[in-house]
Amino acid sequence: MPTPEFPQPLGGNEMPRFGGIATFMRLPGTSSPDHLDAGVIGVPFDIGTSNRPGARFGPRGIRNESVLLRPYNMATRAAPFDSLRIDDLGDVATNPYNVADSMARIEAYYRPLVGAGLKTVSMGGDHTIVLPILRAMAGHHGPVGLVHVDAHTDINDSMFGERIAHGTPFRRAVEEGLLDCSRVAQIGVRGTGYQADDFDWSRQQGFRVVQVEECWHRSLEPLMAEVRAQVGSGPVYLSFDIDGLDPSFAPGTGTPEIGGLTIWQGMEIIRGCHGMNLVGGDVVEVAPIYDVSGMTSLVAANLLYEMLCVLPGVERR
Ligand code: MN
Ligand code: MN
Repeated sequence: MPTPEFPQPLGGNEMPRFGGIATFMRLPGTSSPDHLDAGVIGVPFDIGTSNRPGARFGPRGIRNESVLLRPYNMATRAAPFDSLRIDDLGDVATNPYNVADSMARIEAYYRPLVGAGLKTVSMGGDHTIVLPILRAMAGHHGPVGLVHVDAHTDINDSMFGERIAHGTPFRRAVEEGLLDCSRVAQIGVRGTGYQADDFDWSRQQGFRVVQVEECWHRSLEPLMAEVRAQVGSGPVYLSFDIDGLDPSFAPGTGTPEIGGLTIWQGMEIIRGCHGMNLVGGDVVEVAPIYDVSGMTSLVAANLLYEMLCVLPGVERR
């Protein structure tokens, strides 16, 4: 049985689900990472966005919809809150007027957490935020493997002349030596490009690039067995851009692309990360102002929960 030192989500019979302060999954919420094994963190930031802004409201939207979640995973029998000390750490204070300062602030926030061995599960924010998080991860672990779900490869060299934007983080991560390139998989990429060979740069780095057409009409369990073999036992980061899903499932995002992954394929990808040496993960690009009925935030909350369920050390009952 859980002891009081294991923070627990507030039950739906103690306070109605529409009541109380909206932390992730109605966890107690704390500003102190001491004695925690994993932290859920909001990174409200969207000035790296190229089209529709609004991902700065992602953490609030996701927390709001996460009130529906219950602690036990009925499919995998994972019991994250009995196995690990997990709490909502609140938000990083980003600078809404300055991309570079925001990058510095995010990295400074994550470095001591990662250094203390905490697993971080983050709510974006646009995809720019993964760069400072990866800087913190690689600063502690060395180059990490990466499971990257997205409609886009996010490996542009620059956008409108800027080298830091939501379409460039993985190019910068390669240049800075943050990734173990032979242990990177990009899943769900699709759509129209500026050049027909846009995805080839990723392949030239040694990434496995799985275009969405390879995923259509099938279970992704076999793919994830291959990805587990690819990433091996070294540290792995999981970055899930919500636009990897089809916009019919997740319309609340800034750069939607048709023909995307289904919700259940997204769940198969995250569940397929069970057994990896996951050091952290995120769900990014949720923009609640374009959402329908809170659907995208609800999906994101569930995907974040599924990430908690596959962290190393989480028991299955
Ligand atoms: Mn992205
Ligand atoms: Mn994307």
